[in-house]
Amino acid sequence: MSDKTIFKKIIDKEIPAQVVYEDELCLAFRDVAPQAPTHVLVIPKTTELKSLDDVTPQTEALIGHIFGVIQRLARELGLAEDGYRVVSNCGENACQTVPHLHFHLLGGRGFAWPPG
Ligand code: AMP
Repeated sequence: MSDKTIFKKIIDKEIPAQVVYEDELCLAFRDVAPQAPTHVLVIPKTTELKSLDDVTPQTEALIGHIFGVIQRLARELGLAEDGYRVVSNCGENACQTVPHLHFHLLGGRGFAWPPG
């Protein structure tokens, strides 16, 4: 039985996703249960990072690259002018459900603070 996460299956094109960006290091696709008019997940292709808690000095360049992609996508998807939110749920208390590092890019509406 496959022990791949749902995100690894998307990376490997075993299940479909609405991909909005891809390069050799990362993939961005629309969340299947959007929490805002625009809700995109940006993930590294490596399966070695289960969450932000696994980030090390050796992966800082990858994380920096992903944030550059997030900024570019926010602009291309028309979110930059009014603002947007980037979220990474890390661990049980934060309600992380997929053990593969991912960043939610949310926009197209106003958001409350503090978050729930
Ligand atoms: P988190 O709760 O932070 O771990 O976020 C996981 C996200 O993955 C949720 O927002 C889900 O809606 C999303 N998700 C789960 N399966 C899929 C899928 N097949 N395609 C796109 N997004 C998905």
